[in-house]
Amino acid sequence: MLLFCTTATAAKLSLPIDSLATRTGTTTKSAAKATLFRRNPDTTANKPKLNAVVKQKVEIVTYKIYFNGKIIKVIPKKVKEEFKGKYRYVYIDKKGKKYELGDYKIYKIQKYRGEAGEIVNLVNLEEVPKSYKNGTFQYHFNMDSPRSYVNEQTLASFFGAMLEVNYLDIGCNGFSHKDGSSKPSRSHINGNNGDFKYLRADKTLECGVGTSLNINKAADSLDYRRQNKWNDALYKFGWKKMLGWTVTVNKKTKFLHHITHKTTNHHHHLHVQNYEPHFKEIKL
Ligand SMILES: [Zn+2]
Repeated sequence: MLLFCTTATAAKLSLPIDSLATRTGTTTKSAAKATLFRRNPDTTANKPKLNAVVKQKVEIVTYKIYFNGKIIKVIPKKVKEEFKGKYRYVYIDKKGKKYELGDYKIYKIQKYRGEAGEIVNLVNLEEVPKSYKNGTFQYHFNMDSPRSYVNEQTLASFFGAMLEVNYLDIGCNGFSHKDGSSKPSRSHINGNNGDFKYLRADKTLECGVGTSLNINKAADSLDYRRQNKWNDALYKFGWKKMLGWTVTVNKKTKFLHHITHKTTNHHHHLHVQNYEPHFKEIKL
């Protein structure tokens, strides 16, 4: 059944990443800079103007996702009309270079199992490009579940974790439904907890029923090293507890990183929870 697997196929993944639909950062600022110099190249009177361009006001709520796991939500004094109801996501690498990951529609909902009037902002992962590449930073994920809603913060963490590992075979088995509920799971509410397929050594990514790797039956197919890096990245960007299974290879039984015990029904996916990101909100 390929009902929820809208974009990712094994065939597509065998193409080089550049041939997939990707987003790249904008060069608006440098273009503006060049124009100013052209207009009046010989005077220094340009300088204040130039600064004004370089420090142009951001008039959209912006999530800054830092390489070290920090996440900062910046709320501008005034949000431009066209940006109302949307949040922007930007990744910042260790050299301070910015990577624009897109502006996404926010779905304001009553918090599921919350008090009346308590609000959560969800984002639909189906509206997030499934592939990205800019320099050495890249990701590709698929959404193999109707529970495609994360929240405004977990989206930042998901981006951060993906750009930490730069894998092209992330299989998401679901977060929450659009009302914040999570049937058939009980714990995946309000976009906080999520499930991911275990990563395969051959790096294939398939979608649909029965495509998740069962590490109880086929432990040899698990990419133990890459999986641990992925677990570490998810942990770094906020999910402090994970549920999973053990892997037994050559009669040696091991736990994946951040998994402390076997949990029933978690031999075919990694579950992430206890979401506590390194988060700060700044109001300008
Ligand atoms: Zn789960």
